[in-house]
Amino acid sequence: ERIIGGGATREDAAIEASIRPQRLDDYLGQKPVREQMSIYIEAAKRRGEAMDHVLIFGPPGLGKTTLSHVIANELGVGLRVTSGPVIEKAGDLAALLTNLQPHDVLFIDEIHRLSPVVEEVLYPAMEDFQIDIMIGEGPAARSIKLDLPPFTLIGATTRAGLLTAPLRDRFGIVQRLEFYSAEELTRIVRRSAQILGIDCEAEGAAEIARRSRGTPRIANRLLRRVRDFAQVRAGGRIDTPVAAAAMQMLKVDPEGFDDLDRRLLNLIIENFDGGPVGVESLAAALSEERGTLEDVIEPYLIQQGFLVRTARGRMATQKAWRHLGLQPRDQAAE
Ligand code: ADP
Repeated sequence: ERIIGGGATREDAAIEASIRPQRLDDYLGQKPVREQMSIYIEAAKRRGEAMDHVLIFGPPGLGKTTLSHVIANELGVGLRVTSGPVIEKAGDLAALLTNLQPHDVLFIDEIHRLSPVVEEVLYPAMEDFQIDIMIGEGPAARSIKLDLPPFTLIGATTRAGLLTAPLRDRFGIVQRLEFYSAEELTRIVRRSAQILGIDCEAEGAAEIARRSRGTPRIANRLLRRVRDFAQVRAGGRIDTPVAAAAMQMLKVDPEGFDDLDRRLLNLIIENFDGGPVGVESLAAALSEERGTLEDVIEPYLIQQGFLVRTARGRMATQKAWRHLGLQPRDQAAE
């Protein structure tokens, strides 16, 4: 497991239930998203209708699931949580949909992984609150229409481009989550420390935040690992030197990069002359899947200006050369 991976580990899942914000006011950062959602929520409540369907996209750990909890809470409705790969058959989805209460929220994580058959069922459900289900088999089989309670579908995915066009078009509201600033993550770390009873100085929280790849899940995880270190080596209090020493032990560098990031940058620079190099070649050389490379490793490196995607492949920037202690070549990307 990558200590700075954005996906949820079992330990994360156990702890996240207690620190996950439940109200819009506690959902820190993502200001444009928060402002827009507060209007859509308020409007739906005033009209007494189900809120429009919402598509949320962004890398793992940025708060997609959390936002769906917040939305359901603010609407004062129930929430059902599931994910694309879990819904295997059309009947599974039909069962979920027919059990919703009016105006409930159904959250489907990894919605791009729904099978085409299941996705077909979703279209009329989203559009007309109706589903067609098949009764019986063989020549006696017939299809009947079932009315559903009006509901709000919230779909989450890492990249909007992974969705089929017909599915994407059925979402009235599309929100894209951005990486969090170090200041926002500092507030998130301090809030979590308070809830979990961790003694963490403001500067210690900032040190953790800076190395968290703009991702709340990583910030919360690093906070717990730094707490372990602080308890054993520093009387339990997290300040800057303690946070920095713990991160060094965890091999998370001051940019929040781990061995995998450094290997990727090194590979482009040492083996491919700084690039451009195709994503498939990189994935093969790192023994990672292309999807992992594109969705999990690259986005933060690109956002931070260490890597650029060009038409001919990936290139390490001058910043990347310098981060690895190398003199950038003249043709290295800015
Ligand atoms: P995703 O569904 O995008 O993978 P989650 O919603 O599960 O991410 O978020 C992971 C954890 O990060 C949550 O349990 C929560 O504690 C924290 N978190 C996410 N977004 C925020 C936020 N805006 N403010 C405070 N904490 C957040």
